[in-house]
Amino acid sequence: MKKIKTLQCIRCGKDHKLNDTKYNCTACGGNLQVLYDYNLIKKRLNYDVLKDNREHSIWRYLDILPVASIKNVPPVQVGWTPLYKAEKLGAEAGVNNLYIKDDGRNPSASFKDRASAVVTARALEMKEKVICCASTGNAASSLACLTGSLDMKTMIFVPETAPAAKVAQLLVFGATVIMVKGTYDDAFELCLKASAEYGWYNRSTGINPFTREGKKTCSFEICEQMNWETPDKVFVSVGDGNIISGIWKGFVEFHRLGIIERLPQLVAVQAERSDSIKRAFESGTDVQPVSGVTVADSISVSLPRDGMAAVMAIRDSGGFAVSVTDAEILAAIPRIARGSNVFAEPAGAATYAGLLKAVKEGKVKDNESVVLLISGNGLKDIQSAMKSVGKPFVIKPDMAELKKLVADNALA
Ligand SMILES: *Cc1c(COP(=O)(O)O)cnc(C)c1O
Ligand SMILES: [Zn+2]
Repeated sequence: MKKIKTLQCIRCGKDHKLNDTKYNCTACGGNLQVLYDYNLIKKRLNYDVLKDNREHSIWRYLDILPVASIKNVPPVQVGWTPLYKAEKLGAEAGVNNLYIKDDGRNPSASFKDRASAVVTARALEMKEKVICCASTGNAASSLACLTGSLDMKTMIFVPETAPAAKVAQLLVFGATVIMVKGTYDDAFELCLKASAEYGWYNRSTGINPFTREGKKTCSFEICEQMNWETPDKVFVSVGDGNIISGIWKGFVEFHRLGIIERLPQLVAVQAERSDSIKRAFESGTDVQPVSGVTVADSISVSLPRDGMAAVMAIRDSGGFAVSVTDAEILAAIPRIARGSNVFAEPAGAATYAGLLKAVKEGKVKDNESVVLLISGNGLKDIQSAMKSVGKPFVIKPDMAELKKLVADNALA
């Protein structure tokens, strides 16, 4: 592919050709990033071309994706999710210009579809027959969804504790599901070994250099949807760190192409006990494992697989990291729903909990424009959602009972 210049190691800087390696740096094992011939791309992808482009999915950015043509892409709409101005929620948080990017509106109901779509298209172009993935749940259900109708076998490794809705998705879309008695980190290691043993193409976060490429498309959309303006801050919930590094890459590339004039600050939101990236960012040391325990399963990670790139993204953007408790995450679910009509899964809701904390600490000014990335839909994990709300009334189908209920609870 002429548009790709190099797969460059983010740790040691070694350059690789597309055929040199499928996964990590051949010298040091570091994660790779895809760098393009930006002068070539500038001629094809610019403001004039984009404003007339009627392809409303991630494939409107094909010129800067590691895929040769759209002949081989999964046949469902990924990306171009809505960006809402959230007036009421913003007023509650004390932020006048609050926006919600609702990525729960993707085919499998999470942000991960952006990555799975690009990796699946790559796999088809490379004529891979079996694709595998370790996941807390969403990366897997996304991969299962996007390969559902394709002539490709999908092998999934998830922790036994993955939420039921995500497991249902895996089975419905026809993936082979291997539940691992252990954590996400255990599932990750087993998937890595399986990929080496059987030659399966591995989509797992961190080792596959193309997931970040799909994820960056969200930033392109935010710029377009904000009328080519850059928001001041983007709040992103962080587990492995691949979303936030992808979000950063997207803004950097649009800036490099001259499509936007300035870059936003990124705010990483982590769960209190799954905060490895926050610790590394604040202490300036390497990413170290933490317990990883949190109700927000999608950001429950002991050792982040794209931690170094995430720390670089926070630092280079001049942003910061916040951590939130499980109670704060759960409380944010109904607040977002009632303040903006969007139902978020715990990891998505964490961004609002993080915003409240950052506002309280004086780190967000009231005139700044702020985007919250809602990375997954609330229906993905109703068990957690139910913990944050009351119980329904239950009565016989009888008017007298209803009248008593209304009177007793002052409902009318
Ligand atoms: C995967 C995921 C995240 C975190 O992304 P990382 O790349 O692991 O940091 C956040 N929210 C949801 C809903 C996810 O599925
Ligand atoms: Zn290297």
